[in-house]
Amino acid sequence: MATIEMKNIVKKYGDGFPAVNDVSIDVADGEFLILVGPSGCGKSTLLRMIVGLEDISGGDMVIGGKRVNDLAPRDRNLSMVFQNYALYPHLSVYENIAFPLRLQKRPEKEIDEKVREASKTLDLDEHLERKPANLSGGQRQRVAMGRAIVREADAFLFDEPLSNLDAKLRGQMRTEIARLQKKLGITTVYVTHDQTEAMTLGDRVAVMKRGILQQLATPRELYEQP
Ligand code: ADP
Ligand code: ADP
Repeated sequence: MATIEMKNIVKKYGDGFPAVNDVSIDVADGEFLILVGPSGCGKSTLLRMIVGLEDISGGDMVIGGKRVNDLAPRDRNLSMVFQNYALYPHLSVYENIAFPLRLQKRPEKEIDEKVREASKTLDLDEHLERKPANLSGGQRQRVAMGRAIVREADAFLFDEPLSNLDAKLRGQMRTEIARLQKKLGITTVYVTHDQTEAMTLGDRVAVMKRGILQQLATPRELYEQP
């Protein structure tokens, strides 16, 4: 686990208005932070700078006390869950979850233990031999989370993970993600444009508009504002 400190983060694409403009947010160890705002406000760009998928134009990104501006994604020990899940279609559920551990060349016994533990936590233990095409949207989502869990990353990053699901499933998954995050106690940054998700999921909500951090407060504080 780790803290994530964003200090005066700036992102410029070309000469235009900065996509992210002097944003400072400290995410505490184990905290669940929501980044919310309309399309184009810069939330995905900010998330991608935390993971290292986007260069930082200005400011410091500090994860677990270490400045990571120049660190490659693979050296940051973070786990990102994308909205399209990015599962491997030719691999079983088991192998999809095991994949990051295979990359790390962990011993077979350890891989097996971790995959079975994660799939139990996620209620996937009945589906380990299936391929992603034969799973529901919610199950695919959970496989993506399983892959994130086994890595034992310092933090989870979610980029609109529920936006491809129907309303009912979205509600279920919302509850599931909140439950898991509490259970694992892992630092989480979650990007959404959905107000309900923003107000129900996180410990704190960062509201962005045109690259600027407009508000940073608990859902309760936001709700009680005049
Ligand atoms: P959000 O995730 O809130 O929808 P983004 O972070 O994707 O917003 O985008 C923020 C701004 O940066 C937008 O104006 C977008 O057009 C611009 N932008 C995003 N990615 C690129 C890119 N690769 N090249 C140029 N401009 C980009
Ligand atoms: P390559 O094909 O170049 O090996 P990978 O997608 O396998 O690229 O990833 C390389 C490294 O990048 C991984 O070891 C991992 O640490 C990091 N990485 C890849 N995907 C993610 C992700 N979704 N979230 C966080 N880190 C990732």
